[in-house]
Amino acid sequence: MIDSHCHLTAPEFSGDIADVIARANAAGITTLVTISDEMADLPLCLKLSEMYQQVYFTAGVHPHHAKDFDAARDIPLIREAAKHPKCKGIGEIGLDYHYMHSPKDTQQRVFEAQLVLAKELGLPAVVHCREAVEDVWTIVNHVKPQKIVIHCCTEKWQDVERFVKAGYMLSFTGIVTYPKSADIRDTVKNCPLESMMVETDAPYLSPVPHRGKRCESAFVIETAKVIAEIKGIDLAELDRVTTGNAVEFFRLRS
Ligand SMILES: [Zn+2]
Ligand SMILES: [Zn+2]
Repeated sequence: MIDSHCHLTAPEFSGDIADVIARANAAGITTLVTISDEMADLPLCLKLSEMYQQVYFTAGVHPHHAKDFDAARDIPLIREAAKHPKCKGIGEIGLDYHYMHSPKDTQQRVFEAQLVLAKELGLPAVVHCREAVEDVWTIVNHVKPQKIVIHCCTEKWQDVERFVKAGYMLSFTGIVTYPKSADIRDTVKNCPLESMMVETDAPYLSPVPHRGKRCESAFVIETAKVIAEIKGIDLAELDRVTTGNAVEFFRLRS
């Protein structure tokens, strides 16, 4: 199984990253894609990917940090990072109108600039979308990148069906396991298996029964179990298909 989205550079992991990766291995998680949030994450992403054979990374600036983005300075740096053999995508990028840590127009400009870069480099984009699905769609539909994933998908099926129809992916976190997430489980039910991936978004969003604790990649199994149940297939089959999807999406060799 692959944890297609985690944040191994988060300070929560600074004390025991080797143990976290060892526990993921022991749980059968063969590959971890660590996602950048800001430019300052890149050196450690790169280092971890060189230290651990199973770790890959992406480069990009989260909408929370859009206000710090300087295209003239940062686009060339992302372009440079993307040349690394273990850099497999641009992200996470997108729009977050819930926290609004950066102004809307800044978020939109920074999202579009990085999406255009992903398209130009032929890399998949990891897209964060919170209370912003209409504007995410407008920008995606305008840029028309080859590959994106709506990560930590918490949207209703009616709002994300158009992404799947356009050939894009959805990825689900531990939120799927929470009692109140009926809408998300309905999206899982409707989303074709070929269009989905699983992730932790660790250190955040621990699935049940680890809810409330720091999340780590080994826990992605709990999310996968719930998705397999919704789909009416066994865990091994869900693992086979979603692992294949992630390998193809990020062009990983597993
Ligand atoms: Zn996110
Ligand atoms: Zn994330």
